[in-house]
Amino acid sequence: MNGTSVDFVGQLKNAGKFLYIVNPSETTFEFPQQVPDYQQQVWIPFFILIVLEQLILTAKDKKSSFRLNDQVTSFSHWVFQESGRILFRGAEYYAYITIYEKYHWWNLQWDSVWTWYITALGVDFCYYWVHRSNHEVHFLWAHHQVHHSSEEFNLAVGLRQSVLQQWCNFVFYLPLAFFIPPSHFVAHHQFNLIYQLWIHTTVIDDLGPLELIFNTPKHHRVHHGCNLYCLDKNYGGVLIIWDRLFGTFMREKDELIYGLVTSPRSFNPLYLQTFYAKAMIDKSNGMKSLTDKLAVLWKGPSWFPGGPRLGLDEYKINVTSRQKYDVRIPTWQNVYIILHFAIVLYKHFQLYDEKQDFNNFQGVTTILSNIFTLTAIGLLFDKSQNQPYFNVYILFVVDKNKDTKVSDH
Ligand SMILES: [Zn+2]
Ligand SMILES: [Zn+2]
Repeated sequence: MNGTSVDFVGQLKNAGKFLYIVNPSETTFEFPQQVPDYQQQVWIPFFILIVLEQLILTAKDKKSSFRLNDQVTSFSHWVFQESGRILFRGAEYYAYITIYEKYHWWNLQWDSVWTWYITALGVDFCYYWVHRSNHEVHFLWAHHQVHHSSEEFNLAVGLRQSVLQQWCNFVFYLPLAFFIPPSHFVAHHQFNLIYQLWIHTTVIDDLGPLELIFNTPKHHRVHHGCNLYCLDKNYGGVLIIWDRLFGTFMREKDELIYGLVTSPRSFNPLYLQTFYAKAMIDKSNGMKSLTDKLAVLWKGPSWFPGGPRLGLDEYKINVTSRQKYDVRIPTWQNVYIILHFAIVLYKHFQLYDEKQDFNNFQGVTTILSNIFTLTAIGLLFDKSQNQPYFNVYILFVVDKNKDTKVSDH
């Protein structure tokens, strides 16, 4: 980890990871346990980018497009997902490592630069299929929809992920375990996801010839559009060539409307993480035969009996205009939310602190209280009738937190 002093060169190097500008010799390791947590290294530069993006948008538009409710919701999902990452401690890599150790049939040298490049390409190829499956298989879409739940398109949306993201996706990478050393996989899996953060923006328009090869904001805007022509398009991670090869590429055309075709109309992160699974199970229960009940789970989200696997376009909702979901709440409530959100972030960052001797119980308690607080914040943004009960809880937790801090020192 970097020291506490402001290390500009180090942070610039970290920022290079957004564009996959990484030195192979510095990121090659023999064992997966040696691979650093690269995702943590990009937090500071990414936060700076988020601030810059909002400044540019405000300067361009005069009327700021910043919406506290939407931004906080994106960050809340990030806390949810990171909490999962802390709890699971990379257990999702276990199957990969086991397969490699027992069955790998091609010995790619861990210290060869070729292995580094082959892994970069292999991980991105698998990501294309991961992502495509996430959209075309209903039970996978039930978790991936979280990423598409914002009606905005900004950098913070890149942080919106399902808690189960890694667990639903790791299977698709397992073929790589037959020839790619786990240390390379763990590094490039992170680089691949880090690259995908900066492409969530409307600030960058067209990147010329780079648009031919790389996934760019322009291509990814189409992926987040809910206009009919955007559905199930542009799945690429770093490279867009996979979409061009496999027939899922779509150029940006009409004005885009972002989000899910049916807006969930909520800022409650817990609800956004879970509501779709219930909707899918309800749809499955509504089917007459067992075959159709199961087909609802593994065929496309728009599938209905008698139709093709991904459903017919005429049954899909053609979103042509939309009033964004927004609820006005008093300024004091916004201040109240910002304060509590800052406390959640403070408590969340303590979870990473290795010096802080967190036993599991304490860690789990912190995670649960953060989830509860973020849910309460979501309910406040929604002006939900249930929010008073949750907010009484928050006051209790904050009070307790204050006491713990005092006794810790
Ligand atoms: Zn997607
Ligand atoms: Zn995205």
